[in-house]
Amino acid sequence: MSTVAGTQPRVLDGVAIAAKIKAELVEKVAVAKAAGYTPGLAVVLVGENPASAIYVRSKVKTCGELGIYSEMHTPPVSVTTEDLYDLIASLNSRDEIDGILVQLPLPKHVDTEKLLEAVAPAKDVDGFHPINVGRLLSGAAPEQVLASCTPAGIMEMLERSGIPVSGQRAVVLGRSNIVGKPIAAMLINASATVTVCHSRTRNLAEITREADILVAAIGRAGFVTPEMVRPGATLVDVGINRITELEEFERFFAGDEARREGFEKRGSTVVGDIDPAAFAIAGAYSPVPGGVGALTIAMLMSNTVKAARLRRGIA
Ligand code: NAP
Repeated sequence: MSTVAGTQPRVLDGVAIAAKIKAELVEKVAVAKAAGYTPGLAVVLVGENPASAIYVRSKVKTCGELGIYSEMHTPPVSVTTEDLYDLIASLNSRDEIDGILVQLPLPKHVDTEKLLEAVAPAKDVDGFHPINVGRLLSGAAPEQVLASCTPAGIMEMLERSGIPVSGQRAVVLGRSNIVGKPIAAMLINASATVTVCHSRTRNLAEITREADILVAAIGRAGFVTPEMVRPGATLVDVGINRITELEEFERFFAGDEARREGFEKRGSTVVGDIDPAAFAIAGAYSPVPGGVGALTIAMLMSNTVKAARLRRGIA
């Protein structure tokens, strides 16, 4: 790997940071229990989407590891919208439930936006409710707001890795409601100067080259090439793209024998939105896998513990 002036780029290790966050949460849950309450999460999984089932199982398992109460609701794909509203209403009203997570995507006949708005904002641990989005935009302190988990994980990663944000030029690629927009708001709140780019942005490379911190969340394998990156920048790669073609594998991972072994065994591997060749000229970067993705569940757990605390008015 050729590097900037011979210095090795720093790897932002999402797995290690997630482990630290979870260890801190174990202590916070113990404090909550001593104070007479156990943070609780209810997960709603509609139908039988295998990928969603895997995500939900790992969320429930992590609750168990941290001492958080959890329960799963698995209505069939044929469930009526009314029955789903009733389920959310009952979870909203139960005191032992602090967080409600509705696993997406929902079946086509359910109005996702409306259902998510039915979740009580105080229990919206995904941070998708317009009230919580509004609080984030209004500049609420991070410890006082339930914000979207993946961008919250990015901010933890930057902070815990000692990457300065205040006064830095940040460029966000992607404007989705779950990543692009909330990470832009969080970076603004942390006093970065932020530009958000999307599919209509002109002269993209000119803009990305100005970034001290570049966050890529567009869902396109290896889209950000070395020419689009300022040497020494911090690269945060949110993308998770599965590649199956040998030609693509060779483009991104030629010479990476460990990865080749996995690729040949499984017939696929994941690559982020940033071409790994660009990592070589970075000051620091989050790898895929093992970067941002590793933090999302930890932040969901963090939001559940936070929701339990905020709902009880504990500072
Ligand atoms: P999304 O909803 O599909 O949004 C993609 C965004 O990228 C859109 O704003 C789109 O612009 C923009 N875009 C697409 N092609 C572009 C191009 N050629 N140039 C510039 N901008 C372009 O995606 P998302 O849900 O935010 O997810 C993005 C990636 O992050 C995916 O790979 C996803 O799997 C991953 N992800 C990971 C985690 C995690 O690690 N836990 C969580 C969420 C997402 P327009 O708005 O103009 O269409």
